Amino acid sequence: MHEVSEPVFILPTELGYRCIRCARCCSDFWEIPIDQPTYERLQERDLSTVKPAFDSVKPVVRSAIDCSRWVFRRSESQCCLLSLQRECLLHSHFGFDAKPQACRDFPLRFVVTPDGVNVGFSFACTSVLRSQGKGTAIAEGDLKSAFQQSQNVATIYHEIELSKTASLPWNLYVKVEQELMRLLSVDTYPLEERLIGGNVYLEMLERFIHEACKQNSYTIDRVVETFIRDMGQHQYQRIIAMAKKSRHLPKLKRMFLGLVVAYRNNVEKRHGRMRDIVFALFHYLKHLFMAGRVSLLPVTEGFAYSELRQLRFDMSDPFFEFQLRRFFLHMIFRKDLVTHTDLLSGYRFMLLYYALIRWYAVGSACARNAAEVGRTDLTEAIALVERYYVFHPVFDHLFAQNPLFKGIVERFFQSKAYAPTIVRPAVKT
Ligand code: SF4
Repeated sequence: MHEVSEPVFILPTELGYRCIRCARCCSDFWEIPIDQPTYERLQERDLSTVKPAFDSVKPVVRSAIDCSRWVFRRSESQCCLLSLQRECLLHSHFGFDAKPQACRDFPLRFVVTPDGVNVGFSFACTSVLRSQGKGTAIAEGDLKSAFQQSQNVATIYHEIELSKTASLPWNLYVKVEQELMRLLSVDTYPLEERLIGGNVYLEMLERFIHEACKQNSYTIDRVVETFIRDMGQHQYQRIIAMAKKSRHLPKLKRMFLGLVVAYRNNVEKRHGRMRDIVFALFHYLKHLFMAGRVSLLPVTEGFAYSELRQLRFDMSDPFFEFQLRRFFLHMIFRKDLVTHTDLLSGYRFMLLYYALIRWYAVGSACARNAAEVGRTDLTEAIALVERYYVFHPVFDHLFAQNPLFKGIVERFFQSKAYAPTIVRPAVKT
């Protein structure tokens, strides 16, 4: 239970959610975790009355990723409790509350902030992803009880880390967040320049705060407000000019992104220190020389670099711009950038997701032998990256298992060339 007596909910204005009962969340590749109270209730129930097959096959198994957790067995690529009519058998036989908390939470995600409780949504949900079912169909009372029972609640306090060496009080963070959203929305510049520009903006803000602190004569409020006013002039012209000038390194992008994908694809394997070094080296060289295919689980085929070079990916398509901007604005709204790390690192993770979305869109286009990336490829790529990289604590898990990988990511994030390199293309076309 979350101790906020009368929560004030802040809902996103740019998107809504209304379940259309597509059952995608029950038929995806991910594991559906079972919390302890639900596990105990399941033990007491005779599930063979729900589905005769449960007489001989248990519906609950150990997680392949973390053997201390229980998850639902998958059968024919979906949760074994999904009926032929695409309904949850637990829900239809025992009611909504019989389902594990993770199922009851989906696709909601709450963040308690000093201003209220932000209600975010997962783009892994069809309704959210495709703007189907306009308007948020959750009554205030249901939202309150969903929030009080949810496992998916993060808390943000009054001080926000801007970077490892600087922080912002909450009221100033809100202003900086609004600026990042405005910068991302100025569609007179290409999306990629705006994405790189956001990184330039935060790096400059960090430097500006350090310089002002040395002089000791300004308050943080005055420093940040002056910065915001000056940088926002002429639609962030100065920021975009610096973003345009920044140099990118396609080889480095291939090696880094290839390594991220390889570690993610092998999340269930544990590496010893020596094997970790060999693994990292092998993938560095493979992507440096553009050898073999880029394997993109669960889009198993992935693509070869020669296909990447030939495939048309028209980023000037307004639909691509609309979908990507909608996703990133919502990531910022739901406080993804600051709930697990400092704002600068959170922003750099967001740029990494952008690069991954592009690769997954390419993988999807290659899987259907297309000559160019289509709208569905990009939309599905957003959902895939959300499910496979963003929403699960994937990087926490990978970093804990592979300190070498953690060191590589941290070092690259600190590099001057990071933002332009990760955002711009990995091969010359
Ligand atoms: S994916 Fe979204 S719309 Fe589809 S069943 Fe799940 S919650 Fe409902």
